[in-house]
Amino acid sequence: MVHLKNVTRIYSSGTGNVYGINGVSLDLEQGEFASITGPSGCGKSTLLNLLGGLDMPTSGIIEVAGIPLHEAGEAELTSYRRHTLGIIFQFFNLLPAMTVRENIGLPLLLRGETLKGIAARVDEMLALVGLEARAGHFPHQLSGGEMQRTAIARALAGRPALILADEPTGNLDSRNAAMVCETFSKIASQKIATLIIVTHSDAVASLSPTRIEMLDGKILSKYTS
Ligand code: ADP
Repeated sequence: MVHLKNVTRIYSSGTGNVYGINGVSLDLEQGEFASITGPSGCGKSTLLNLLGGLDMPTSGIIEVAGIPLHEAGEAELTSYRRHTLGIIFQFFNLLPAMTVRENIGLPLLLRGETLKGIAARVDEMLALVGLEARAGHFPHQLSGGEMQRTAIARALAGRPALILADEPTGNLDSRNAAMVCETFSKIASQKIATLIIVTHSDAVASLSPTRIEMLDGKILSKYTS
């Protein structure tokens, strides 16, 4: 599902070249749940940006769901982000003037799906993340955990093959983080999508059967329990 072969991203700056990542190879299967940990500056954001189709490698091969991202054009990358990918951010990125229901349905609306189809899919997603009773609420009426579960529902609504989550519990207290972790475990157990979570949290990393540690732009270790 995710295939990286010898991927390097070099940033040029005034003072010389900096390796964002350096010769990373990685394979993940459909439905696999992986966490990525490592100290600041080790290349986690660079890797996420490349997997998210937001950046191009300097060299190497990146394929997600059979799509060769390393040689994709802008239109292909836009289509990839819209149809194949779901992204979850640390600060939720919900639209404040829209309800939970509208936030979750928005990506489907942008794709031009029918209102009836969207309503049915949003109901499914609300049930998956346990927010049926909050469907008509606005983001400011929610706890942080509820906001993040809304964002998870939004990311999953379009049936993406790959979900990327960037520090998804980084802005939550431990109780809300635990609820978000429960939601990730449910998604993983149902093998709804391949899930990659970048995290500093041991609690989150310990949920994932596949654990990837990065250091200095490289994968230091990867093991699956
Ligand atoms: P992490 O997300 O693990 O903190 P990053 O991927 O942000 O790591 O950074 C990896 C390396 O690439 C660091 O040395 C960082 O300084 C460098 N880097 C990241 N983005 C840029 C950029 N836009 N320009 C120059 N160097 C960058």
